Amino acid sequence: MKILVINAGSSSLKYQLIDMDTRDVIAKGLAERIGMDSSRLTHRYGADCAEKYVVDTVFKDHTSAIQMVLDALVDAQHGVIADTKEIGAVGHRVLHGGDKFTASCIVDDACKNAIRACYPLGPLHNPANLQGILACEKVMPGTPQVAVFDTAFHQTMPPKAFMYGVPKKYYDKHAVRRYGFHGTSHRYVSGRAAQLLEEKGYKHDKMIVAHLGNGSSLSAVVDGKCVDTSMGLTPLEGVLMGTRSGNVDPAVVEFIANLENLSVTNTLTMLNKESGLLGISGVSSDMRDVNAAADAGNENAKLALDMWQYGIKKYIGAYAAAMGGLDTLIFTAGIGENDALGRWKVCEGLEFLGIKIDPEANKVRGEEKLISTPDSKVSVWVIPTNEELAIAMDTLELTSK
Ligand code: ADP
Repeated sequence: MKILVINAGSSSLKYQLIDMDTRDVIAKGLAERIGMDSSRLTHRYGADCAEKYVVDTVFKDHTSAIQMVLDALVDAQHGVIADTKEIGAVGHRVLHGGDKFTASCIVDDACKNAIRACYPLGPLHNPANLQGILACEKVMPGTPQVAVFDTAFHQTMPPKAFMYGVPKKYYDKHAVRRYGFHGTSHRYVSGRAAQLLEEKGYKHDKMIVAHLGNGSSLSAVVDGKCVDTSMGLTPLEGVLMGTRSGNVDPAVVEFIANLENLSVTNTLTMLNKESGLLGISGVSSDMRDVNAAADAGNENAKLALDMWQYGIKKYIGAYAAAMGGLDTLIFTAGIGENDALGRWKVCEGLEFLGIKIDPEANKVRGEEKLISTPDSKVSVWVIPTNEELAIAMDTLELTSK
């Protein structure tokens, strides 16, 4: 079966068409500037999706963008399927499922209403995600759709891990709590690791997954279930990220707002968009640029790297303590999969926890690999994440029932 995976944002939409028999991505692309004067579809196809077809047009809404995606998929010259009926189902990435979703679900009225009910928790993403779903219903009537939530995997956290120390009435009234994000990645990577470690005879009851990309989060996973994660009510909490600050004293918000004459909203925008690696280094939010600047002697870039490494190290220590031990540490996502020095620095000094990296094995980029020494008590791995495939796998499973 071929499954279309959609990640709809407010003004853009990413897609992948995956052949589930081979698990190959047969086409992928991006529709940008939806609802604006000039829009663009960039459609990739062919071997390794190396061929490119660009259409400059106007997408007045998500429906016209999805229609254009379907047109590209069946295009006589650049298409990859003869008929859109070859698409067996559509899987949608949905940011926030609140505490209503512990797993992915078939899109029906109840599912759509629950996504709407989570608008206050994901005000930018959930409405856009639902737009993508409604658009597919319009242009592909009868094709089953599945919603896959970024928050679902973390719903197994116990209250002691997900509650904030604010008056409980805010949880009761407004569902203020930690939800966590990147759940599809944490679930995919921890599941893949369990499979791999089982085959190779490694212990894997207590795992930490470090998803380190532009957005970064860590999770503590016991027997396949998430028991804690670093992101919170929103993706702002946790470790230092590309442009997000991660943890700060909440009083910083009022303090900066008053001194800089900013609104709370503008201050939070600063914490989300102008902080992190970008805000500290003053160079870039992209780890490759920050690494290059640090190598060239830029002191602010060096500080950003120190903070990034130190913050992740602290979470690893905290989660090992929370779980009462650690069997497996996994690095994934753009930085986790590619930045050997970053991984080394994060693990340096954690020998007391039983973590020993093999410098040779650690010279790896983007492939599944054991990077710890044979005598390391904790096995440390690089496992590439694949959120689109995870969404497609859920979609296949739910629609094949
Ligand atoms: P997201 O999906 O959150 O947008 P990614 O998982 O794609 O982010 O990760 C992007 C990050 O990965 C960027 O900071 C980028 O610099 C980093 N990255 C990619 N390749 C490398 C590399 N070779 N060395 C260090 N960082 C890398």
